[in-house]
Amino acid sequence: MLPKDLFKKPMNTLESAYEKLTKTAAPDVPSEMCTSCPGCRAMLFTSDLSENDNVCPKCGHHFRINARQRISIITDEGSFEELDGDLRSKNVIGFPNYDKKLKHAYLDSAEKEAVVCGTASIDGWPCCLFVMEPYFMMGSMGTIVGEKITRLFEYATEYGLPVIGFTVSGGARMQEGILSLMQMAKTSGAVKRHSDAGLLYIAVLTDPTTGGVTASFAMEADITLAEPKALIGFAGPRVIEQTIRQKLPAGFQRAEFQVEKGFVDEVVPRSEQKEYLARLLSFHAPAESRKEQREEADAE
Ligand SMILES: [Zn+2]
Repeated sequence: MLPKDLFKKPMNTLESAYEKLTKTAAPDVPSEMCTSCPGCRAMLFTSDLSENDNVCPKCGHHFRINARQRISIITDEGSFEELDGDLRSKNVIGFPNYDKKLKHAYLDSAEKEAVVCGTASIDGWPCCLFVMEPYFMMGSMGTIVGEKITRLFEYATEYGLPVIGFTVSGGARMQEGILSLMQMAKTSGAVKRHSDAGLLYIAVLTDPTTGGVTASFAMEADITLAEPKALIGFAGPRVIEQTIRQKLPAGFQRAEFQVEKGFVDEVVPRSEQKEYLARLLSFHAPAESRKEQREEADAE
């Protein structure tokens, strides 16, 4: 038989379990100050997490971050200058509720579209940069996303600059029908012209990079990097499993799996990305700008 007071909470200091209870009880912290890590289930202070570039200090889980946070992590302070920041999508084909969805996406992300483009420098190396925004309809690619990325590659080609692109996307934006699918060909054309001019393009695939974005500019880079454990694929694992009626291997479509299979060149943790990208930019910079950089470094 169970003791009668098994579930009784000790209330005064004379009861034997009181001290143990007060010592082990978790402090009463408001929920918005804490975030539970999906990787290791640890409760983390939100402030600690943001100081650590939104990477779990315990298990290294990379939390999703918005485009502006990423720009501030990667670029030199104050160097980012936005291009085509005013372009916005319209409900061209009259898709039901799309206007409302666009408005919500704007409120959720404080961005006008699902990609932010511009020029910046990384450890002093100039480049064009596009960063997709997960909080705007999960970075889905509509006409404006395609147009902004195309214009960025055209700008980079004209000024002889390398392009660095951070992708995060659920794929083409179904609310724009065939017009969004067309962006795959349009962006690919611009990437090809940039490549034909002998210029460097580095893609960094973040969680998740799927659908029409994977099937176009995300996979067309000279060097393809990824964040740890990012989901990278065309169709999702559940769809594939249902189609082929086979169990998929562990870690399927994760960044590490894609490195093993040759889709991705390297997995680079967020804390090392800036240095890694700067090194790649320096390797591929024209000889005269490398000389200038060396002279500047010597002068300091
Ligand atoms: Zn964790």
